[in-house]
Amino acid sequence: MNKNKIIGIAANEFAEKIRKLSGILEISVVGSVAGGDPHPNDLDIVVIIRNLDEPPIMAKCARQMSSHYHNWDVFFFDEDISPLGRICRRRECPTQSVDCCVSGCGKPPHLQVCPDFEYDENKFLASPIKVLWTSFKKKDCLLARKDELSIESRKYPVLEDIEIKCRVCGNTFVFTGGEQKQYQKLGFCQPKRCLECREQKYMEE
Ligand SMILES: [Zn+2]
Ligand SMILES: [Zn+2]
Ligand SMILES: [Zn+2]
Repeated sequence: MNKNKIIGIAANEFAEKIRKLSGILEISVVGSVAGGDPHPNDLDIVVIIRNLDEPPIMAKCARQMSSHYHNWDVFFFDEDISPLGRICRRRECPTQSVDCCVSGCGKPPHLQVCPDFEYDENKFLASPIKVLWTSFKKKDCLLARKDELSIESRKYPVLEDIEIKCRVCGNTFVFTGGEQKQYQKLGFCQPKRCLECREQKYMEE
């Protein structure tokens, strides 16, 4: 199964659980997952919420996503689409642990409210958005705001797997989209040798 699909399952299960809680207005996936990137780096979920009465339950549901996929983030916004904070990943929050000692973590418990976090609405709304569930009858809240400001979604290039002919042994090998993305990020050139020949070379050096 492709990674985007597994992440989609995690996000849907989370939305299914929390939408019944009080004050939840809309749940969306934003960023590379919503943009259909087959090699997303993380899962970002935005929850629009009326009050922050139930963060411990929401934090628990969020941690349950880790059984499918661990690199998630859940952000809360109010109805005016102003950021309220994100879920702390610790089981106990506040604690003395490193993840948790970001200033503003744990008050209220299970939430990180980052005072120095600079929020740029235009940048945020340029992310692709996929609404999983909404309580708004007329129009989804996030998408309506995006339309109002006429912001286009940024595109995620889809990297296809490519076949490369090894210049040492002549066998072809697959350079996957995921590997290409990683190589680009690290600034590496496309490999010229297949894995076996690369290993061979390291052993000789
Ligand atoms: Zn993220
Ligand atoms: Zn915390
Ligand atoms: Zn080779």
